[in-house]
Amino acid sequence: MPIAAPTWPQATTVDEIRRNLAAVRERIARACALAGRDPASVRLLPVSKTVDEARLRLAWDAGCHELGENKVQEAQRKAAAMADLPGLRWSVIGHLQTNKARDVARFASEFQALDSLRVAQALDQRLELEQRTLDVFVQVNTSGEDSKYGLDPIAVADFVQQLPAFSNLRVRGLMTLAVFSPDPEQVRPCFARLRDLRERLRRTLPAGVSLEELSMGMSGDVEIAIEEGATVVRVGQAIFGARSTPDSLYWPTPS
Ligand SMILES: *Cc1c(COP(=O)(O)O)cnc(C)c1O
Repeated sequence: MPIAAPTWPQATTVDEIRRNLAAVRERIARACALAGRDPASVRLLPVSKTVDEARLRLAWDAGCHELGENKVQEAQRKAAAMADLPGLRWSVIGHLQTNKARDVARFASEFQALDSLRVAQALDQRLELEQRTLDVFVQVNTSGEDSKYGLDPIAVADFVQQLPAFSNLRVRGLMTLAVFSPDPEQVRPCFARLRDLRERLRRTLPAGVSLEELSMGMSGDVEIAIEEGATVVRVGQAIFGARSTPDSLYWPTPS
């Protein structure tokens, strides 16, 4: 049955951010309890796109020491502005063009949208120069929509076999965006597909490649993702408040 779209309250003070974070953690804990999972097995990645530096400093005070950004330029600008916050980690969770690989290699700790060998190669070369490594997730298109980035599930096994060639990439898992629908029964199969794919690939993983992590689930569907095995949930609006910008700025949407 379709559920009403929730309205996420804006958080503009450190207490409001704390309140929203606590509510998200409570949802995670409840979903874990129902699924018989340890809440410590689910990492909450706060997604900070469109949120300005002043509010992100409050988020830091509220305990967000890791932030996910969809666009490299926005992430890089914020990382530079907040370089004084010790240990703040940046995760790039959106599509990357090879000409931005150098930037990601410099400031990011994690990249969750790997879906081509060209990008893997560009990142690896740049990381080599920077003498850094990067945690990466392979993005999979589990919804079958042309508009979504990510590899066709059929292509992932071959793709993963190529990754040990890129010694500065630490392959951690798979990432997906579900179909955008208020109907949980449309969303769930996308998450289940990612988990099934991981189970199949586990038997033939090359050395050095781990697919333990499943990054799936956002503000509206954290519970379903956890039921289906998510180990990372990427949550923006439920922490910071509803975005006024349309999501089509961040990923292609069917027209
Ligand atoms: C924005 C974004 C999210 C978080 O979406 P919310 O609705 O803000 O929770 C998750 N993943 C990706 C790739 C995003 O760009």
